[in-house]
Amino acid sequence: MAKCVFCGEKADPVRKLRIGDTVFKACPNCFDKYVETDKKTIYEAVVSAGYYGDTYSLYEWLKEEEAKEKEKIEQIKENVRSFEEWMSGRECGVCPKCGGTMVKLDPIDLLYYVGGLPTINISSFNADSVLMEMHACASCGYTEFYSTEVKKRFDAYLKNKEMLEEALREEEE
Ligand SMILES: [Zn+2]
Ligand SMILES: [Zn+2]
Repeated sequence: MAKCVFCGEKADPVRKLRIGDTVFKACPNCFDKYVETDKKTIYEAVVSAGYYGDTYSLYEWLKEEEAKEKEKIEQIKENVRSFEEWMSGRECGVCPKCGGTMVKLDPIDLLYYVGGLPTINISSFNADSVLMEMHACASCGYTEFYSTEVKKRFDAYLKNKEMLEEALREEEE
């Protein structure tokens, strides 16, 4: 008869507490009592009950679990730290759609100018493409593009138009 590791009563063959690779056989009552508890509580209950054979390996297992837990927290810490590092200096305003925080993304060559007008050209990066600044909302993902290039080209166009009109006027005279 398989014994419940917590109380020594007959273990339920279906109700097993599985934590990592370690399986603890339990009776229905103990299963219900321990199924939601943490590893350390289970370990202490199993050791003090004395029905589990190899408590040394159990101790090793707990140490391992604690080390894994620590490692996981270190990893989470690192993820938080690296994201905060990435965010620093990028906040650039409030999202016009949802009020979330807008962050500056790294500029990419995305827009391609044809005759002074921007055309999206993702597939082929070209010598005529210009750097675009992108601002994306951290909450809803709304993204804006900024470019000084449009204004520069538009100003040049206005100037050219003016010069052309002047030249045509002179021709007429
Ligand atoms: Zn039990
Ligand atoms: Zn937003």
